[in-house]
Amino acid sequence: MPNQLNTQCCIAGGGPAGMMLGFLLARTGIEVVVLEKHADFFRDFRGDTIHPSTFQLMHELGLLDDFLKVPRQEVKHLEVVFNGESIQLADFTHLKVAKPVLGLMPQWDFLKFLQTHAEKYHTFKLILEAEVTDIIKEKKRITGITANTKDGPINVYADIVVATDGRGSVLRKKAGLKVIASGVPIDVLWFRLSRQQDDPAQTFGRFDHGRIMVLLNRDEYWQCAYLIDKGNYPQIQQKGMPAFYKELSEVSPFLANRMHELKSWDDIKLLSVDIDHLETWYTGGLLCIGDAAHAMSPIGGVGINLAVQDAVATANILYEPLSRRKSITTDILQKVQDRRTFPTKVIQNIQIFIQEGIMSRRSLAAKHEKPPLPFRLIKAIPLLSRIPAWIVGIGVRPEHVKTPEKK
Ligand SMILES: Cc1cc2nc3c(=O)[nH]c(=O)nc-3n(C[C@H](O)[C@H](O)[C@H](O)COP(=O)(O)OP(=O)(O)OC[C@H]3O[C@@H](n4cnc5c(N)ncnc54)[C@H](O)[C@@H]3O)c2cc1C
Repeated sequence: MPNQLNTQCCIAGGGPAGMMLGFLLARTGIEVVVLEKHADFFRDFRGDTIHPSTFQLMHELGLLDDFLKVPRQEVKHLEVVFNGESIQLADFTHLKVAKPVLGLMPQWDFLKFLQTHAEKYHTFKLILEAEVTDIIKEKKRITGITANTKDGPINVYADIVVATDGRGSVLRKKAGLKVIASGVPIDVLWFRLSRQQDDPAQTFGRFDHGRIMVLLNRDEYWQCAYLIDKGNYPQIQQKGMPAFYKELSEVSPFLANRMHELKSWDDIKLLSVDIDHLETWYTGGLLCIGDAAHAMSPIGGVGINLAVQDAVATANILYEPLSRRKSITTDILQKVQDRRTFPTKVIQNIQIFIQEGIMSRRSLAAKHEKPPLPFRLIKAIPLLSRIPAWIVGIGVRPEHVKTPEKK
């Protein structure tokens, strides 16, 4: 017989969405169980951005001073180099938030921070090495989940299950929720190269005759993202490492002297880029948020922001009925979807536009020797660089903490 646990809110997946939601609900006195399949938060690179909106949330929670003790880099401006021409694309310094910068912090440090603060509330329980495998359904309503843990199988029963298990969500599949995928023309290769003393200081994107590389300055190393045509990685591998070194060196010549640090293809991670969303984010007893509701492209580095914002909106909407032990009806879950669909769609549409219109490598190579119009406009009118900063740093319809702390 599996072990059994009863709680008010069961959260499947301890990423940014799950940990933020778990923390916010536990803070209001609601019993929460978060199940995370990994043994800790150390895992593959999945983006390290802390958005100005997240700093603002920490401020609203009274945690900003503590949060600022976590080591990080701070980016005030994002620069692109387009066929040799430098353009300051985003200026975060004018955002009206407590900390108008883009933070770069290892995601595990961010998640650990949320865990440490969530565990101050006795209503919070995080179970690591707990892989959620299925839903439990009674009379057409989802009433819990099954999971495998290191201590054996467990059934967790809850008033509401929230799927925050990312873009490969098991729960959304098991619940039969319809996924609407948008075609994506790119994949991304991620790798690190060391930083040297006379390297540029900026975090920036480099566009070189249709080839695109993003370089995030992490003090000791560059976190690099190189865009390739979708499905093209096997061909790149076939051509061999020296050809790949040459290609990267053409895009970022100052990195040519350290290409040997990429010893094999094992040092490079392929991200198959997806953009999708659920037609309906919920069914009776289950709600999906974060990447589980809408997988984001890495363009603009906004997936973490949306996941955190979804969590805040969900906590704002669910805490009152949960704390009064009212049934969580689909009408209540629809409110979460109504609140978060618009911000998600706006950002996904911008990502699709950038991918297909501006960043499509072939069309760039063929047509755009000059920077595309939006880049030229921003260069001509620097004030416009506040718009990309707002889209990346804050997003549409930003959320604020409305949940009270139960002392
Ligand atoms: C290589 C890469 C780079 C990225 N770069 C950026 C960036 O710079 N900035 C940015 O904002 N976004 C970036 N993103 C996107 C960002 O990582 C996601 O949008 C964001 O993490 C979504 O948060 P989430 O909590 O919804 O899901 P996830 O972060 O995917 O978290 C899901 C969690 O659920 C756990 N899980 C999965 N299945 C189960 C299961 N069955 N049982 C229990 N636990 C489970 C996972 O281990 C994980 O901890 C990047 C993504 C990738 C892959």
